[in-house]
Amino acid sequence: MKVTLCLTHRCNLACSYCYAPEKPDGMTLKTAEKALALALSQVEKDEEIQIHFQGGEPLLCFPLIQDIVGLTHHLKASRFAFQLTTNGTLLSQEMLDFFAEEDIALRISFDGPARIHNRNRFYPSGIGSYALVLANLRRAISQVNVTVDSVFGPETLSALPETLEALENEGVNNICFHLNYIGNWPIEAEHWFEPVYRQIANRYIKAYREGRELEINLIDHKITLMLKGGYPCGDPCMKAWAVAPDGKIYPCDQLIERGTALCLGNVWTGMKVEPHVLRLHQIGCANERCGTCSLNHYCKNQIPCANYLMMGDVEVMSPIFCASEKAAIHAAQHVFSTLFQENNQTFINHLAHHLEFETDNLDELKSEECMV
Ligand code: SF4
Ligand code: SF4
Repeated sequence: MKVTLCLTHRCNLACSYCYAPEKPDGMTLKTAEKALALALSQVEKDEEIQIHFQGGEPLLCFPLIQDIVGLTHHLKASRFAFQLTTNGTLLSQEMLDFFAEEDIALRISFDGPARIHNRNRFYPSGIGSYALVLANLRRAISQVNVTVDSVFGPETLSALPETLEALENEGVNNICFHLNYIGNWPIEAEHWFEPVYRQIANRYIKAYREGRELEINLIDHKITLMLKGGYPCGDPCMKAWAVAPDGKIYPCDQLIERGTALCLGNVWTGMKVEPHVLRLHQIGCANERCGTCSLNHYCKNQIPCANYLMMGDVEVMSPIFCASEKAAIHAAQHVFSTLFQENNQTFINHLAHHLEFETDNLDELKSEECMV
């Protein structure tokens, strides 16, 4: 189970694509304690609970993070794992020491070279945050487990290969590219994804040919899905929810404060059971062409946040996101068939250890239509 704790809506940056509501609120320790208790009541014994600290900027609440992690030391009924998403501007050595000691994985938002990063990620004064984030990213990489979250929009999609190269040069080997759902995507952008994702796939292949392990969400998530036969029960967001600072529960952090119809309940009284709320947990896809699409099992067409933010309906997939999904699946197929046919041992070890897949089954899967 994954629980996102949105500790505050406050932030020291003013990114152009920020979706956090402008509210000066902050979560209390009591609210977080209630959220942990609710999560514990919903998991099997010994099932892992992933706690994801989010904001706004969660490092504005560092003492609260320390208290919440301290609380979990007394809750031995389940195993907790932690990650924290930060804009990277407020990281201190004290924080890094704490994250290293508590095994908290860091997700640092960094969009690439200065002209790309500063285009969208700046202070309220308009000054870009690139220089400080890069300095802190370099410090963090050597001390804790770091993933870089990189957001792209229509104006920066074509620069993704350049961003990937810059991140590889910094020694980052775990990268998540995120499409800006609220970007102003023109309809012709449907045709832009395939060539760009193909270049990402080719850089991924190059890294493995050089014996370097690289993890990129666009490729790795799709390969994992293919190896596992698709999304379980058709729902990519099962067993995940997010808690707003006031204790209200939503399907994910991107849907916080998007209206009562999307609210699943609160940490004080639990999840609601009204039909519209249950529907949010068994979300479907209303796009007719998806029913006959051969990529349906590997596609995030049922992801409520993307659908809601791009189309205003949790069940309707945007043509832009459809194009991105198709291109990601094709890129992953290209990577898998290329590296597997080359018997690339770095890649096969990556599948076995990082993606936790039994390599004994790979020969069988290679003959499956989806893989080649
Ligand atoms: S760092 Fe995150 S929360 Fe802060 S302004 Fe940027 S997108 Fe919004
Ligand atoms: S790739 Fe497009 S058409 Fe196919 S299932 Fe996904 S959203 Fe539907």
